[in-house]
Amino acid sequence: MENKKYTVKCPECGANVEISRPAIINVQNDPGYKEKILSGQLFHEKCPKCGQELQVVSRTTYHDMEKRIMIYFRPITSQEELKSFDYEAIRSAIEDNFTAPNYGIRVVTTVNELMEKIKIAEFGLNDGVIEIAKFVYFDIFTKQFEGTGVVNIYYERRDDKDALIFFCDDSKTRSIMIDPDVYASIEKRFSAVVNAIYTSRVCMVGRDWALRMIRAYSKLDQENKDSGAEVTPAPTPELKLLDSQS
Ligand SMILES: [Zn+2]
Repeated sequence: MENKKYTVKCPECGANVEISRPAIINVQNDPGYKEKILSGQLFHEKCPKCGQELQVVSRTTYHDMEKRIMIYFRPITSQEELKSFDYEAIRSAIEDNFTAPNYGIRVVTTVNELMEKIKIAEFGLNDGVIEIAKFVYFDIFTKQFEGTGVVNIYYERRDDKDALIFFCDDSKTRSIMIDPDVYASIEKRFSAVVNAIYTSRVCMVGRDWALRMIRAYSKLDQENKDSGAEVTPAPTPELKLLDSQS
């Protein structure tokens, strides 16, 4: 495994902290690294001089040949990084080098997204379906919990069930079960686009992607309606709360 070296300054004592991180993680060759990412350990350091705990993110590429996913983690942790982030350049660089068929290739910019993509693949799910499901459940969530703002939503496996964790502005989290029927109906309705993201195209599959797909499909529905075609309405899911914690 090829490692990249970094030096960061400890914010507590000013000492230089030397860090060595894998540039590419191949899960089949280095199985321990999946757990290291999921536990947060990979991006965690300790200053050797004063013992201060440090969170240091660094770019890495996560490759799982069995699940056929390749995740390019290109962290954005500051305004400068956001400004210089060039998705098109990243995409064309990947496409020039990557030739294996039928892969899910993703570019993610936060540790949480990286963890989420790994978990989604772990349980054999499609991340496009999950991103669309977040919108479906967000709608009914905000009706049920009126006045509660949602800061973020992440996929998680809870009590052997697929769940969405809502991080709310009252600093509580609420876990909502993804109804398998709702998952299946999204997968069916959006089959063309959720299958296309596993054909080795480089994509960022997140909130913006899901919103674009939902808008495109409802436009299509409207056109069909206008032309007199039958449009089956999507089922309205029930909200099943798994837990709520502060
Ligand atoms: Zn220190």
